[in-house]
Amino acid sequence: MDITNLTIAVVGAGYGGAAVAKGLSLHGADVTVYEQATEIAEVGAGIGLRPSTMDLFRRWGIFDAIARVSSPSDYFEILTATGDPIAKDSWPGMDDYAVKTHTHLIHRGDFIDALTGVLPDGMIELGHKLESLDDRGATTVLRFTNGETVEADLVIGADGIKSTVRQQLFGDHEPVFAGEHAYRVVIPTSACHGMVVDDNLRMYIGRGTKVYLLPLRHRDGLSFDVTALDADGTWVPQVTKEDLLSKVEGFDERIVAIARDLDLSTVNVRAVYDIDPVDTWHTGSVTLLGDSAHAMLHHQGQGANSAIMDAGALVDALLAADSVPAALAAFQAERKPVTDELQAISRHGWTDDELDDVFPGQKPAAQATR
Ligand SMILES: Cc1cc2nc3c(=O)[nH]c(=O)nc-3n(C[C@H](O)[C@H](O)[C@H](O)COP(=O)(O)OP(=O)(O)OC[C@H]3O[C@@H](n4cnc5c(N)ncnc54)[C@H](O)[C@@H]3O)c2cc1C
Repeated sequence: MDITNLTIAVVGAGYGGAAVAKGLSLHGADVTVYEQATEIAEVGAGIGLRPSTMDLFRRWGIFDAIARVSSPSDYFEILTATGDPIAKDSWPGMDDYAVKTHTHLIHRGDFIDALTGVLPDGMIELGHKLESLDDRGATTVLRFTNGETVEADLVIGADGIKSTVRQQLFGDHEPVFAGEHAYRVVIPTSACHGMVVDDNLRMYIGRGTKVYLLPLRHRDGLSFDVTALDADGTWVPQVTKEDLLSKVEGFDERIVAIARDLDLSTVNVRAVYDIDPVDTWHTGSVTLLGDSAHAMLHHQGQGANSAIMDAGALVDALLAADSVPAALAAFQAERKPVTDELQAISRHGWTDDELDDVFPGQKPAAQATR
C-alpha cells in the first residue's frame, strides 16, 4: 500500500508512539503524534533494549543515536539476596543478526529524548489529551480536551496502560493490581558502594523482594529498582524509608546501604499493574499498540521492547497489505500471540510461599506462581 496518502494520528508520545512515528515517517507518511503532556519526560530508571529492538533501530538508521546514550551489555545474572549466584545467561538473540547485537542499557529519560530527537521537527503536538473518538469506518475523528478535533485515516492508540482508545473502542480492561510496589531511582556510581563492576544487569532475589541493579556506566550511574510484594494498590503509595528498608532486610549489606543512603523524595514509587489480554486490538481504522494493547508486569523486562517491536511490525504490515483493515489484522495476527505469552510469563514472578506471606489465602489477580 502507498502509505503517503494516509493521514495518520498517533495518540501518545511514549516509546511505542515515538517509534511507530519514526518508522512511518521513513516511508513518507503524514504522521502527527498527539501527546497529553506539555513536555516529554520520563522517570529516573533504566531499561534494557534487547538485540531485536536494537536491530530494528539499525534497519531504521537510528542505531547510533540510541547507542550514543546507552551501554552494550553481554549478560544478566540472578543471585540470592546475599549474592550467591543462581543463574547467568547471555542476552538471548545477540548472535541472530549479521553483526553481533548487544542488549543496550539506557536511562528511560535518555531513551525518550533520543527517540523523539530523531523525529522530523513538528511531528509531536504536546498538550493534546484525547477525550473521545468517533470511529466512522474508513476514518476516525479524534476530540481533544483542548477543543481541537482531527480526522484521520488511521489512528494508532499508543496511550499506555490506562488507554482512552482501548476503553472507548475495545471495552473495559481496567488495569489489574499485581500486589507489588516498585521503587526506582538512578544514583551516581559514587553512591553505589562498589556494586557497579561492569555493564551487566544483576537481579538479587529475596523472600518477596527483587532488587534490580542496572548499570548506566556511560552516564556514571546505577539504576536501582526494588520490587516488593505489598497489599496497598494505591497508584502512588505513600511509603517511608522504613518501608523500603524492611523490603531489603537481609540483602547484601551494600544493597541495604544504598537503600539507607537514598533521599526518598528522589525515588519514584508506584504500585505495579498490568492488564488482562485484549481479544481484539483494532477496528478498520484504529489500532492499539504497546501498553495500551498488552501492558505487562516488568519481571521479564519486555514492555518497552514489545512496544518497539509492535511499531516495527505495524509499519511492515502497512507497507505489505493492500488496505488499512488488512494491515491491522495482519499486525494483530503477528504480534498478539507473542505478547499474550509475554503477559502470561511476566505474571510468574513469585512462589506460592512468598504470595501467602503477604496475601494469605487470596492471591492477587495478576499473579500466577512459578
Ligand atoms: C518498574 C518498571 C520497570 C520497567 N522495566 C522495563 C524494562 O526493563 N524493559 C522493558 O522493555 N520495559 C520495562 N517496563 C515497561 C515499559 O516502561 C512500558 O511497557 C512502556 O513504557 C510502554 O510504552 P508505551 O509507549 O506503550 O506506553 P507509555 O510509555 O505509557 O506511553 C504512553 C503515552 O501516552 C500518553 N497518553 C496517555 N493517555 C493519553 C491521552 N488520553 N491523550 C494523549 N496522550 C496520552 C502518555 O502521557 C504517554 O506519554 C517497566 C515498567 C515499570 C513500571
